[in-house]
Amino acid sequence: MITDQVVRELAEFDGDGSPVTTCYLNVDGRQNLRPVDVERELERLVRRAAPVAADEPSVSADLQRITAHVRDGIDRKGVRGLAMFSCAPREFWKVISLPLPVHSRISVGHAPSVGPLESLVEELRPIGVMLVDRQRARLFVYEMGALTERSELVGELPRDYDIRDQSSRGEPTAHVDELILQHLRSAAKAAFDLFHEREVGHIAIGGAPEALAQVEELLHPYLKERLVGRLRVPAAAPIDEVRTHLLDLQAQVERDAEAATVARLRDAVGAGTKGVAGLDDALAALGDRRVDVLVVSEGFEQPGWRCPACGALAVVGSTCATCGAEMARVDDVVDEAIQETFAQSCGLEICVGNADLDVLGRIGALLRY
Ligand SMILES: [Zn+2]
Repeated sequence: MITDQVVRELAEFDGDGSPVTTCYLNVDGRQNLRPVDVERELERLVRRAAPVAADEPSVSADLQRITAHVRDGIDRKGVRGLAMFSCAPREFWKVISLPLPVHSRISVGHAPSVGPLESLVEELRPIGVMLVDRQRARLFVYEMGALTERSELVGELPRDYDIRDQSSRGEPTAHVDELILQHLRSAAKAAFDLFHEREVGHIAIGGAPEALAQVEELLHPYLKERLVGRLRVPAAAPIDEVRTHLLDLQAQVERDAEAATVARLRDAVGAGTKGVAGLDDALAALGDRRVDVLVVSEGFEQPGWRCPACGALAVVGSTCATCGAEMARVDDVVDEAIQETFAQSCGLEICVGNADLDVLGRIGALLRY
């Protein structure tokens, strides 16, 4: 299982002068159906890394080890991606199975390249769910596709507790209000204890509207800042209904985040500062190392050119506009651009079905300067 701890330990490894080879491999059954397809994908990556291996003999050994591991066969049950790290001179070898697909790539550096793992850990963080009304409080944790109810952690509702000595507000409504407040406070506290311990990435709340408004005020700041929305379900809803609404909300949150990035891009392009749209300009910005976040429409592919001398990417060949060398054809220059974001440690947002991005040319870049 991939955790913060695993990623931290990897990040701390230092080749001590020897290069470290990192390989991410997509083994998602839905995209790469047969083991032979996975092997072919790896061969493609290894070919691309060949110039580096020619300069560094130990990288060649790393690539052989990675290839041997994949050829031995991968148990793909529940595994949709692989992360492999090798530093032959230091006898360092680590494989991590990933429950989500990754963008396949090989990179060589002085340390393991853990950027994609970090975003994966973020994506895999559990989601906390709390449902409340005046009588009930229920807690759930959603993790790795499963929603588990943990309502036993909410304390017993206070019954007939003594407020008569504390105030002069002895009237029944005040008493009931006080009971409800106490109930919601204890629910908010139980939610914090559970969700903080589980390090949730987001929380969603649902139930009766008036109780929701009240409990939202009572949430610990740790939960408030992770609150992503409300589920339109009653507090007594069956767990399957809760799960359905949660998945809808999660998809909406993802689409909203993508839309916000595209809106930033559109504004930046419109203002003519810190943003470019279209493949030509995006590739040029990558070449100038000015990209902060590359924004790409999922499924966008186009053949193009790569300069073996300076690494520049272009839609039109065959002479490199940067250095004048003869460029080589590549099947998919968009994929090359995505690989380049990893090499340059800049951000990458892949948007699903965003019409605004399609209008901008299916690719664009937010610029550092
Ligand atoms: Zn060049």
